[in-house]
Amino acid sequence: MTDKSHVSLEQRVCLVCGTPFDTGNILLDKRLRASLAHRTTTGWGLCPEHQKLSDDGFVALVECDPQRSGLPRDRLKPEQAYRTGRVAHLKREAFAAVFNVSIPADQPCVFVEPGVIEHLQAMVAPPPD
Ligand SMILES: [Zn+2]
Repeated sequence: MTDKSHVSLEQRVCLVCGTPFDTGNILLDKRLRASLAHRTTTGWGLCPEHQKLSDDGFVALVECDPQRSGLPRDRLKPEQAYRTGRVAHLKREAFAAVFNVSIPADQPCVFVEPGVIEHLQAMVAPPPD
């Protein structure tokens, strides 16, 4: 496949949901060689949906499988995290109250072990009898 071009659409991968999304930026090969694939992933970011939640003061709890990604408490790097697909959002104040830690304002998400989100949901919204 010689599907290369001198322009490429920049994509980033959402830290929260792990989905690649378009940033709207165009990348250009400096020498205008056809060296670039149609899309180029340049790093991590937040997709529009999760950026909005972050702007609204929510922290994303991203559940990871410790069997495949290592333990979240070992300061998991985004590229090591094996996402289970389960995500919850908590207001920053609520997060600080529940976990007894405050997280930096520039940190949009935390990785958690399986069970944490369930536990949290049980606390926040007990199932009706
Ligand atoms: Zn996302």
